[in-house]
Amino acid sequence: MASIIGGTAIQGRASIGGNLCNAAPSADAIPLLIALGAAVRAVSASGERTIAAEDFCVAPGRNCLNPGEIVVSIRIPAPGAGFGAHYLRFIPRNEMDIAVVGAGVSVRIADGKITAARVALASVAPTPVFVKAAGDSLIGKAPTPEAFAAAGEFAKAAASPITDMRGTVEYRRHLCSVLTRRALEAAAAAAQGGKH
Ligand SMILES: Cc1cc2nc3c(=O)[nH]c(=O)nc-3n(C[C@H](O)[C@H](O)[C@H](O)COP(=O)(O)OP(=O)(O)OC[C@H]3O[C@@H](n4cnc5c(N)ncnc54)[C@H](O)[C@@H]3O)c2cc1C
Repeated sequence: MASIIGGTAIQGRASIGGNLCNAAPSADAIPLLIALGAAVRAVSASGERTIAAEDFCVAPGRNCLNPGEIVVSIRIPAPGAGFGAHYLRFIPRNEMDIAVVGAGVSVRIADGKITAARVALASVAPTPVFVKAAGDSLIGKAPTPEAFAAAGEFAKAAASPITDMRGTVEYRRHLCSVLTRRALEAAAAAAQGGKH
C-alpha cells in the first residue's frame, strides 16, 4: 500500500498518519489500516483515547479528532501465523493517480479454513467503507474463488459511489467486486506462504 502512494518525492515526505488524518475518501492507506484492525492513538492536553481506524473518518476531508487532539501513533496487531493482507487500487494510469476504487483486505487461515477476514474500500462513499459483511461471509469457509467472489458481492452492495470523471457508479460497483476478490486471493496466498 505505502509503495503505491504518490512517487519517491511524496513517499520521502508524507506519512501514513497524514494520509489517515487527511481523511480523503480515496486515501490509499485507510482501507488497509481498517483491514489490519489498526487502532489510532489520539492525544490532547486533557488525555488520550484510542479510535478504531474504521471510525476515524467522518466526512470527506474530515476526521473525528477534537480541537487540540493529534494522532501520535497507529497500532497494528502483529500478524501471526496464517495471516495475509493486500491492497489493490484501480487507476487509469500506471501510477500517480487517484484511486477509482481501492480494496484493502486481510484474512487469517488455519487448517484450511478462514478464521478471520476484514474488507474495506476506498473511493466509493464519502468516507472509506468498512464492509464487515464481506469479511464475516468468509468465516468458516475454505479460501476458494467462489467464497472470495461472494465476498466481492458484499463489497459491491456496500458501495455508494458517485459518477465523476474517473468512472461511473456502475463501473465503480463492478470494480468493488473485482478488486475485493483479487485482493482476497492475494491475501490468502500470502497467508498460506505464497509469493504475496
Ligand atoms: C503528487 C501527489 C501524489 C499523491 N498521491 C497519493 C496517492 O497515490 N495516494 C494517496 O492516498 N494520497 C496521495 N497523495 C496525498 C498525500 O500525499 C497523502 O495523503 C499523504 O500521505 C499525506 O501525508 P502528510 O504526512 O504529508 O500529511 P499532511 O499533508 O501534512 O497532513 C494532512 C492533514 O492531516 C493533518 N495531520 C497530519 N498529521 C496529523 C497528526 N499526527 N494528527 C492530526 N492531524 C494531522 C494535517 O493538519 C492536514 O490537515 C498525493 C499527494 C501529492 C501531492
